[in-house]
Amino acid sequence: MYKRNNNGEEVQPEETKVWECTSDKCNGWIRANFTYEEKPECPLCKSEMVASVKMLQAINNPGMK
Ligand SMILES: [Zn+2]
Repeated sequence: MYKRNNNGEEVQPEETKVWECTSDKCNGWIRANFTYEEKPECPLCKSEMVASVKMLQAINNPGMK
């Protein structure tokens, strides 16, 4: 059974831009569209973050309607 979004479309993983923590000891990451920082710092350990891409289920961004 598939979950469906508001448009009635199947919710499938899609390539999502994220920021990933550069620390080996930390697997923190955030969705790129959840921050407007050009160079965000990790919310967990305050390390630098690098732009990356993850396969994530698309979710509705409350700020992007
Ligand atoms: Zn971190």
